[in-house]
Amino acid sequence: KESSVESFPPPQELLTPLRVPQKTLLGPGPSNASPRVLAASALPLLGHLHPEFLQIMDEVKAGIQYAFQTRNELTLAVSGTGHAAMEAAVVNMVEPGDVVLVAVHGLWGERCADMCSRNGAEVRTITKPIGQNFTLEDIQKGIEYHKPCMFFICHGESSAGVLQPLDGIGDICHGNDCLLLVDSVASLGGTPLYMDQQGIDILYSGAQKVLGAPPGASPISFSPRARGKLARRKQKVPSFYFDMNLLSDYWGVGLQKGQPRKYHHTGPISSVYALREGLAKLAEEGLENCISRHQQNALLLHQGLQDMGLELWVKDKSARLPTVTVVRVPEGVNWKDVASYIMNKYSIEISGGLGASAGKAWRIGLMGHNCTRDNVELVLRALKDALQHFGVRVQ
Ligand code: PMP
Repeated sequence: KESSVESFPPPQELLTPLRVPQKTLLGPGPSNASPRVLAASALPLLGHLHPEFLQIMDEVKAGIQYAFQTRNELTLAVSGTGHAAMEAAVVNMVEPGDVVLVAVHGLWGERCADMCSRNGAEVRTITKPIGQNFTLEDIQKGIEYHKPCMFFICHGESSAGVLQPLDGIGDICHGNDCLLLVDSVASLGGTPLYMDQQGIDILYSGAQKVLGAPPGASPISFSPRARGKLARRKQKVPSFYFDMNLLSDYWGVGLQKGQPRKYHHTGPISSVYALREGLAKLAEEGLENCISRHQQNALLLHQGLQDMGLELWVKDKSARLPTVTVVRVPEGVNWKDVASYIMNKYSIEISGGLGASAGKAWRIGLMGHNCTRDNVELVLRALKDALQHFGVRVQ
């Protein structure tokens, strides 16, 4: 006998077929990917440095530049979900002792503050109650008082359903020698966003919302100003995986055509195919058309919910995020019972609140492939049925 060690038997559950039910994902993400995107992710694997794959990476880069409306050369997809892009932004920009100002009006500001402090930043915050956004005066005062080298704000606060206007923030930041970092995971493609014109220095997003691809490869872009800060770092970027200097060599940023790309890590091949198709769909539809589809369907949903006698979390109409709608749970109703009823009967996901809205709200997402008039009608019907089932009088 070779060894006295014996392996334990294979898990029985892996000896049965994989089962994945079909669900309509109308929560804050992921949204359902279109058949075209799913088919792309099932295509044969290529090597991560094969010329055909490098070509697809270039197409993804061009697609992100279009979606972000930026000409930034340092534009790529980080391997990982939205958090990976968020972490990549922070880890490349922050050095120990840097003062970073974070706008907190929901969960995502809190997360960014946490990431910045883990990277040694002196984190300062400005805050708003969940459901409200910041005025330019709030931001100007905060920046003049704290004198940060970077300011973070979330464009689409998916925990609260709030859309933060961005016009003018870039000028305030740049007038105070400060970089502007924006989270657009939940807003990209659903509401206007112009990275270069709005003076955004670092912008990141996710694949699984409006772009309608599986989570796994996340768009990010750095302005020349942000690249200046990266070049001036006194210390190496503390993460090897997210180091934009190394990722630039893999994505061919700054390389002449034909110059060899450098292996950094194995790109998530299938996720990159899927993201390519998500971006291609956006390019075919056109950014403006995609944005107006999201805005129109959101308005229909808002109207339908209010017609039922439900209250939207965000009072100010212009501050409502089109992609994720937050609805107050009526007195005496358990949010989870309603969401479970809708899941069991209709196979539709609507989700509960997050952070300060937890237990008090539902969040309904209409994003990408899912953002259709049919889905608006479907979710309204399902919600009405569920509320009636639990004894709520619905108009
Ligand atoms: N930021 C926002 C605004 C989000 O909505 C999300 C996802 N819910 C994230 C960041 C994090 O993305 P992920 O879950 O893909 O890591």
